[in-house]
Amino acid sequence: MNVNDEQTMSNESVSAADRQLLQEAATRFAREKIQPLAAELDRSASFPRDLYREMCGLGLFGVTVPQEYGGVGADCRTYAMVMEALAGGYAAVGDYFSLMELVSSLLAQHGTPEQRTNYLAPLLSGERLCAFALTEPQAGSDLAGISTTARRTGTGWVLNGSKLWIQNAPVCDFALVLARIDTPDDPKATGVFIVDADRKGFSRGPAEDKMGQRASQVGALYFDGIELPAHALLGTAGKGLRTMLGALDKGRVGMASLAVGIHQAALDAALEQALARRQFGRPIADFQAIQFMLADMAKDLHASRLLVQDAARRLDHREDASQYCSIAKCFATDAANLHVSNALQVFGGSGYIRGFPIERLFRDARITQIYEGTNQIQRIIIARKLMAGAATPA
Ligand SMILES: Cc1cc2nc3c(=O)[nH]c(=O)nc-3n(C[C@H](O)[C@H](O)[C@H](O)COP(=O)(O)OP(=O)(O)OC[C@H]3O[C@@H](n4cnc5c(N)ncnc54)[C@H](O)[C@@H]3O)c2cc1C
Repeated sequence: MNVNDEQTMSNESVSAADRQLLQEAATRFAREKIQPLAAELDRSASFPRDLYREMCGLGLFGVTVPQEYGGVGADCRTYAMVMEALAGGYAAVGDYFSLMELVSSLLAQHGTPEQRTNYLAPLLSGERLCAFALTEPQAGSDLAGISTTARRTGTGWVLNGSKLWIQNAPVCDFALVLARIDTPDDPKATGVFIVDADRKGFSRGPAEDKMGQRASQVGALYFDGIELPAHALLGTAGKGLRTMLGALDKGRVGMASLAVGIHQAALDAALEQALARRQFGRPIADFQAIQFMLADMAKDLHASRLLVQDAARRLDHREDASQYCSIAKCFATDAANLHVSNALQVFGGSGYIRGFPIERLFRDARITQIYEGTNQIQRIIIARKLMAGAATPA
């Protein structure tokens, strides 16, 4: 099924039936195509190129990208629901889904017609793979501290620097790169550059040996005097950091829904195990200690899902939603980590043995508290908003 063929959705009006159709398509794909491959992809830590192409063919990428640019034309709530379904199949696929959404939305929103033709269209068709490169060895949470530079020349730019732990770095065909613009007038000026991987001076490190979400490869990117044309700049010169950070609210809703997908998969596995495993002559599900763990898993899962949908709805309504995106990201990823650990407890010793899905879920959940802004940074965003809204004492 090609969801693009079946839907005529617009960003402004997505019906509940439209959302449900897409969610069902994603759930079916996750169950039939992703889940059966998850253990092997985790073991081999390989990029699932065929699966990725199949997802492109289905029209599952670019959920919030307008249809006129080749996307699905749906809203953030739909994006969150599809993300949860895919991540429930295997979290690393959720990573690809999130990256595609970030980069394709930025290209749709800020790209020139030429940039959309050359980068957005081949991205959505699966012809080209992208990366989103902010982090550097000395600049993680503090992105204003980046030292990659873009120097203006008569015809364009020269890019120097490096990026670290960039998803898709080992396989990408192009990257959106945040760089400091080397100008004496404004020391804070930054820009986003579209950098093709076949440019002279572009190189990459090997895939890192990661703890979880192993099929989603990360690595370093190096830029050694890369000459870029003027039209490599995406959006406005000087406002690059703002452009990239603007995309992160939706990214955080995506990470929160990814965590919900992991959380649901852990609850399903724990419930099945609790009913099947017998000790002291009865299923362990008969013991209240186990029932309470399952109940707490279900309770927080429900809360996470509601927070995600609330943050997504605020984004859809163009509200100032940063605080709510941070709340959803923080709550859902903390809850997923707590409850995947409890789900593993329900499995007893077998939960600790590699090869059992719950062991992989435990490893896959951990990074959700770190990337897309650590949960400490999310709490800073929430607290700042609280303090800004509080009355100042006389
Ligand atoms: C698997 C993986 C995939 C990734 N993918 C990408 C990608 O595709 N693109 C990309 O650009 N980056 C990516 N990253 C990088 C990721 O976004 C950063 O690791 C993250 O933002 C944290 O930065 P850091 O690791 O440098 O930690 P640091 O910023 O050094 O933080 C270390 C610790 O200090 C805390 N801390 C920092 N500042 C404060 C503060 N002001 N107050 C309180 N606590 C603070 C942090 O919360 C953390 O606990 C990825 C990382 C990983 C591991």
